[in-house]
Amino acid sequence: MARASPWTGAIVANPSTRSAPRAVEGAAIAAEYRTPGKPGILGTMRTPSWLRPLVYLWASPTTLLGLVMVALALAGRGRARRVAGVIEAHGGAAVAVLERLMPGGGADAIALGHVVVGRSAASLERHRAHERVHVRQAERWGPLFLPAYAVAGLVAWLRGGDPYRDNRFEREAVERTTAAAE
Ligand SMILES: [Zn+2]
Repeated sequence: MARASPWTGAIVANPSTRSAPRAVEGAAIAAEYRTPGKPGILGTMRTPSWLRPLVYLWASPTTLLGLVMVALALAGRGRARRVAGVIEAHGGAAVAVLERLMPGGGADAIALGHVVVGRSAASLERHRAHERVHVRQAERWGPLFLPAYAVAGLVAWLRGGDPYRDNRFEREAVERTTAAAE
């Protein structure tokens, strides 16, 4: 999940200055996602190709929830397309759900198994690397991913931290995308 932030509107409002480098970055990530055995932004989280169908099956309970979000996106004026093995959808009625997902303005994007849903095409570009880490987490945890994410948030909160920012799944997503950008 990626939190909506105050500067989100600024980027969406100025696509001419921001969309070109973001699009290049997104394409590079998509290409890396398809290259087995090559170290990159997803590092050691890769799985051999013969295991891929099983990985999709293992993550399918979470993906099913994602497909509901895709249906909501398409129910409005949203869009959906396939990007490097993941369905990316944005807009439509899915926006209303994203706005209510977390306090403080909602989420800008969320990964649910092999589905990533964003408020807009710009949201998907902006958070692609981050959300791809969550896709990999869902592949590792399968049907346990969402319960494990909730428990990790609870543990962070019990330790006096922020259930989102200090959630171990969010920390991993931030650490991996930061390391890849350096
Ligand atoms: Zn996240």
